[in-house]
Amino acid sequence: MAGMNIAYPFEGHLYINLTNRCTNKCKFCIRFTPSGVDGIDLWLEREPTVEEIKAALIKAEFKTYNEIVFCGYGEPMLRYDAIVEVAKFIRENTAAKIRINTNGHANRAAGKDITPELEGIVDVISISLNAKNAKEYNEICVCDYGEEGFYEMLDFAKKAKRYVPKVVLSVVDTISKEDIEACRKIAEEVGVEYRVRVYSE
Ligand code: SF4
Repeated sequence: MAGMNIAYPFEGHLYINLTNRCTNKCKFCIRFTPSGVDGIDLWLEREPTVEEIKAALIKAEFKTYNEIVFCGYGEPMLRYDAIVEVAKFIRENTAAKIRINTNGHANRAAGKDITPELEGIVDVISISLNAKNAKEYNEICVCDYGEEGFYEMLDFAKKAKRYVPKVVLSVVDTISKEDIEACRKIAEEVGVEYRVRVYSE
């Protein structure tokens, strides 16, 4: 059932939900499970306005959190312009760390390099690497851009590290140990941090 769960607590942080849309259809995506996140129904009946997001943050007492995360339900950076406005609002009101979890397709989706707009307002950007090459990436992520989505994501990571203090490429621990190590090498080549996330259903 669709609702308007815009700001919700998860694992001690406050998460912001901007859109159902995404440029991928990952086989492990929680959007395709009935349970949502922690039993919270995140399917939005429509995309919230910037003012609605700010109101939801105030209602959720955002100043009490030490980290605020732009995350699902879909791909948050499809609304990068809203993120920029809301992140500025957060910055003006609290010292909380600001993180974006993304698939790294924002530049391709926007048709331009939007990473300079993140300067000074985003502390961490976590990008889903998911696989060690373009073919496997597209098999797992079923990307709107096909195998190009893999290279778009890596290029986004390279560009983002010029403006965001901490950029992380991440994989889920469902891939093989060999693939985890191959992905670690990719993160090293790109020059960003690497994280292996634990899969949760
Ligand atoms: S990138 Fe994220 S939101 Fe998009 S399909 Fe994959 S897991 Fe779901």
